[in-house]
Amino acid sequence: MAVGRRIATLFPHIDTQDMSDLGPSPLVSGQELHVRAAREAIHAALRPITDTMTVPLEGALGRVLAADVVSPIDVPAHDNSAMDGYALHGAALSADVPTVLQALPSTVFAGAPYGGQVAAGECIRIMTGAVMPEGLDTVVPIELCRVDGHSVSIAPSVLRAGENRRKRGEDLARGGVALPAGRLLRPADLGLAASLGLQTVQVFRPLRVALFSTGDELRTPGQPLEPGCIYDSNRYSLLGALQRLGVEILDLGLVPDDPVALQRTMERAIAEADAVVTSGGVSMGDADYTRDLLAKMGEVAFWKVAMRPGRPFAFGELKHGGRSAWLFALPGNPVAALVTFYAFAREALLALGGATPNPLVTLQARSLAPLRKRPGRTEYQRGIVSRADDGHWQVQITGAQGAGILRSLSQANALVVLAHEQGSVAAGEPVTVWLFDGLV
Ligand code: AMP
Ligand code: MG
Repeated sequence: MAVGRRIATLFPHIDTQDMSDLGPSPLVSGQELHVRAAREAIHAALRPITDTMTVPLEGALGRVLAADVVSPIDVPAHDNSAMDGYALHGAALSADVPTVLQALPSTVFAGAPYGGQVAAGECIRIMTGAVMPEGLDTVVPIELCRVDGHSVSIAPSVLRAGENRRKRGEDLARGGVALPAGRLLRPADLGLAASLGLQTVQVFRPLRVALFSTGDELRTPGQPLEPGCIYDSNRYSLLGALQRLGVEILDLGLVPDDPVALQRTMERAIAEADAVVTSGGVSMGDADYTRDLLAKMGEVAFWKVAMRPGRPFAFGELKHGGRSAWLFALPGNPVAALVTFYAFAREALLALGGATPNPLVTLQARSLAPLRKRPGRTEYQRGIVSRADDGHWQVQITGAQGAGILRSLSQANALVVLAHEQGSVAAGEPVTVWLFDGLV
């Protein structure tokens, strides 16, 4: 089904003019698409990759699990001590009078279980992680004991039976799911897999993403800058954003505003990649051939999204030579390109790579300045988040917010996200922010 039609089915309340695969000129239609609707439409259309591979744990950070990791063992494998102290029979403890026990002349170390018996009235020195001797269920930490020769005395009520003992399988029982499929693997996950004795995990192959910039005026750093030309910055911002996502990148460089060159580059991207991220060439002033060409190559929706910056945005599926690739055509303005990447492409690329989407971690921070905002569009303002003296987060907008002012994006450490319905914000009011550290 065409993306546009699929979207129209999903969002009957939205003017499909804005989402048509190719209207006569969909961008000039009056109505704009809500950011949320655009995001949901993208997710409804996507089909994640399914190819899997096995990788060693050492190379699995940031990869996406293709199958549940099931524990082959109980973790921990034995009841063991959570403290350095004395292991004892919990039944010997008293709430009213001191408990006095006779310590055996040996110590139980981690990795060296004690084979003997500990009788009533006795206890045994034990170290953290050591297997609990048979029949013992409690460990008294060394700092709660009074030791006098072989006599160990424990004050009343300092400890209950069963304390400071880790039970076999309490972390994870054999056969239990340790990590679910779709998990983007983090450091602790690798440690958990290792604690199960696993050397490898099954992951999706990395997503391959082609990237190029379009525009006759663009030059690559290192080239001379003729009058009227500018350096291509988007490819470098987006390269960085893609590198942080852990995808394989196919950098196709700069493509002039020329239909033949554009078609050739797209064909190569479709042949070699799962997704294509482009910048420039989708705004109103751009030659219609972009839209004509993309529409000819697949099912592409050109949206005018109710957001600032970054209104023009195209999404779809391109086909060529029996292969297909997902297109994310971002606006050319440097700030708009990165903001639309974060607003739409980032999460979509994670999902395409097989990851179960996690809600983005956001922060509430007090706006230091009043913010002008009209309801009816989502606004992303560049801000610097810091901690106030009272411990709360605060955010200062980084001056001029023009869509081309890249320096203010570089100075910022967060985006202030003002919701579609929201109006102006008074100084001191809380706003939602996306920390750049959380976006990567
Ligand atoms: P466009 O979306 O192609 O109409 O471009 C909008 C604005 O962004 C124009 O001023 C372009 O020169 C600028 N622009 C487009 N692509 C890039 C790029 N890759 N790097 C820097 N600026 C760009
Ligand atoms: Mg252009």
